Amino acid sequence: MSCIENKSAPAAGDNKTGKDYNPYEVMEPRFPLKTPTDRRNGKHVKANDIPSEGVYLPNNNILAPHMKSPEYVQLSNAAAITLGIMGGRMYRCECTRCLNLLLTYPEGCRANCAYCGLARHREADRDYADRNFIRVDWPAVPMADIVDIVAKDPENSPFHRMCISMITHPRSEDDTFTVLQQWTDRIDPDAIPVSILSNPTTMTRDDVQRTKDLGADIFTVALDAATPEVFDRTRGKGVQSPHKWSKYWEIMLEARDIFGPQKFGAHIIVGMGETEYEVLKLVQELVDLGGHSHMFCFFPEQGSLMDHLPATPRDQWRRVQLARYLIDYRDVRVEQMKFDAQGRVENYGIGDAELADVIDAGIAFRTSGCPGKFQDDISACDRPYGDSPPSDIASYPFQPKKKDIKLIRKQLDIPVTV
Ligand code: SF4
Repeated sequence: MSCIENKSAPAAGDNKTGKDYNPYEVMEPRFPLKTPTDRRNGKHVKANDIPSEGVYLPNNNILAPHMKSPEYVQLSNAAAITLGIMGGRMYRCECTRCLNLLLTYPEGCRANCAYCGLARHREADRDYADRNFIRVDWPAVPMADIVDIVAKDPENSPFHRMCISMITHPRSEDDTFTVLQQWTDRIDPDAIPVSILSNPTTMTRDDVQRTKDLGADIFTVALDAATPEVFDRTRGKGVQSPHKWSKYWEIMLEARDIFGPQKFGAHIIVGMGETEYEVLKLVQELVDLGGHSHMFCFFPEQGSLMDHLPATPRDQWRRVQLARYLIDYRDVRVEQMKFDAQGRVENYGIGDAELADVIDAGIAFRTSGCPGKFQDDISACDRPYGDSPPSDIASYPFQPKKKDIKLIRKQLDIPVTV
């Protein structure tokens, strides 16, 4: 088993639009088809009584109705390799610094987000445990096994952070509390802090408070879409999904209140039809509120309602990565930057020498997320190859080397001036 993915990945350069950005009019998801009754709500899996045993690898294709949270969680391939639960290696990475966990149920996530491999409409052709999230597989493992391994020596663990990702499911809140408590009962959250990647649709303020009381350090909201229009089209009414932009903001503002500055944030996917100006305006808004943005590059996941659409061109992605880093960590404001008629970044609002230093430092192009133990602007959550194939890296899960910076400069169209 290897983390080097062989999925048929459309290269970012294959953008059939001929543009260096993904325009709104092109990024229209397909409408979901009706799921046959016998496949709805995990019926087909739940009709069995096969006991779950140990680690479950996606594509095992065993119907395992009892494999559910809080007893079971899914974890990223990278986390499973780092934990020693699975063999394998990751291209140019020794390990991952974040133990990403995902709640799991035979009936899966009840939302239908157009870009997501776990979306509800996929129950028509794949059992939940056999689906991948975005790009990488997520094996299912008993939570007790994970805690047993990490609790042996949390101080010296390769993990700088643990994160619980909720999905849209009626048991999601209660099971998040149980999984969190199971962790903090045995592992000091000062040794390995915990983040919650929330699903606001079914949450209340009290739920947010409870995660804080149980020891969570950072609370993030998977806003994913950068504008209300893109949100509605990709994860709301447009695809028969229950999410609402206003509810996501309500919970994010509760998190700001409860967790405080620098301890809340939002996930944003770049390249789903928003302009660069729109996404960076949102990044600025989050910074002004005291929070952070964690960015993902849109990838057309096979089997999703957006699998016919182009991946985010690297030009657009690099411009947004760089500008977002300047806003988040260098006190540059979006108002200082200049944008063209298509909303593309034309000027980053700082001098050429300073800009060159930031580019050459490479951190702006690493995966963004909650911080680890190295420094504030280096994310523990490195998500190896979660938004691109290793052959055309979007978010670098390691420190980019000279040859990487050369490529990044080419993608940014900012050559070295000597
Ligand atoms: S709520 Fe999350 S897991 Fe569920 S379909 Fe949407 S993005 Fe995927």
